[in-house]
Amino acid sequence: MRVWALRLAAVGAILSASIALFSLPPAGVETLAILMVGAWLLVYWFLRQEAQHQAQLENRVKTLAAENEVQTLDFARLRRRFISFAEGLPIPILIGDQDANLRFVNHTAYEWFGYRPLTGKSIIALTFCYDLYVLYLHAVQRRYQLTSEIVLNYPRERHVVASIWYLGDDGNTPLFAVALLDKSELVRLEQVRRDFVANVSHEFRTPLASIRSLAETLLHDGAMPPETRERFLQLIVQETERLARIADDLLVLSRAESLPPEKEPVDLAPIIRSVVQQVQGEAKEREVTIECELQEPLRLLASRDQMVQVLLNLLTNAIRYNKQGGHVWVRAAMRDGFVVVEVQDTGIGIPSSEIPRIFERFYRVDKTRSRDTGGTGLGLSIVKHIVESHGGRVEVESEYRVGSTFRVWLPVEESG
Ligand code: ADP
Repeated sequence: MRVWALRLAAVGAILSASIALFSLPPAGVETLAILMVGAWLLVYWFLRQEAQHQAQLENRVKTLAAENEVQTLDFARLRRRFISFAEGLPIPILIGDQDANLRFVNHTAYEWFGYRPLTGKSIIALTFCYDLYVLYLHAVQRRYQLTSEIVLNYPRERHVVASIWYLGDDGNTPLFAVALLDKSELVRLEQVRRDFVANVSHEFRTPLASIRSLAETLLHDGAMPPETRERFLQLIVQETERLARIADDLLVLSRAESLPPEKEPVDLAPIIRSVVQQVQGEAKEREVTIECELQEPLRLLASRDQMVQVLLNLLTNAIRYNKQGGHVWVRAAMRDGFVVVEVQDTGIGIPSSEIPRIFERFYRVDKTRSRDTGGTGLGLSIVKHIVESHGGRVEVESEYRVGSTFRVWLPVEESG
């Protein structure tokens, strides 16, 4: 606009000077002509300068536009990268504004809390956790990272470490990120460890207490009849044996849990026959008959010692929790790439409500019967660990007062 006004003014001035030129005397004409040429040159120079300046400005605007386009593209690429990074994280990430309204929720967060359209809604609408909301608002107030342990109850109980930090502003809106780290498994394992230590000390304390009181009675009662003394000593021996059995079973269990099985090619059929042979004495004592129905051979890759342990535990249970004159059947066959071993008894059976718990360490349905038969409450945990460490599984079918069937599935692997 300014340039055009100047151009117009210059042209107007020259035109009026030209008109004046024709109406002047010759001496004035010369001077005016020189002045006009000077003015023309000045206007030409001025206009050129203006044109150059404008061209420079136009170039600068073009460069800035190009730079802006590159920056917009870079920003879009960065944003896409951030989103795919956050989407791929195996922990829930939420991004919200200063009022705890959500701007972004990653895939894992949706998996945790369920898929619902939540952008723009409050963090509470997603997590149903008031503690997390309060922590978020504290982080908003302070604008620095806050971390705290929180229990989420929706859709299931989870113990998490929640971290909230300031991300920066989007326009005038400050944004905050939330990351949730699930430590429920650690909490559960810690609880299992605490229970286990408590159970072990309880299991040891009971026989130790009876040994102590028996020994003290023996010590202080000098006039004790010899038969009573002998009975007391026998009880002490029994309790010591029980302690030794618990210690042995704990060792077997800890080995099965901590070390992978040392597998070798084995035929399970002769192993089953030899274990049946081993328990025949106890079966006869309790008037229980054992029958075998074995397909042969039953080749698989397994730890021989651990297979013996599994069969011993299942067979002794089938004998000990049987009725007088009862039966035990041991069946084994190949089925769908598995060796399936079945131990069925006509024993006391297990109430269906107890079945989910019998594989827990030290869990007994009938504590007195288990103790009287020399049980430690660890036999089935050992079975489960060994079978699972071989890639197999254990199933139970039982009818209370009728009998039980324990079925072990062991995968047949090629020995390579
Ligand atoms: P225990 O040393 O007490 O036998 P286990 O871990 O072997 O411990 O078994 C856990 C509990 O499961 C037993 O105490 C018993 O109550 C029940 N149980 C195991 N096997 C049988 C079975 N064949 N028949 C009935 N109850 C059984």
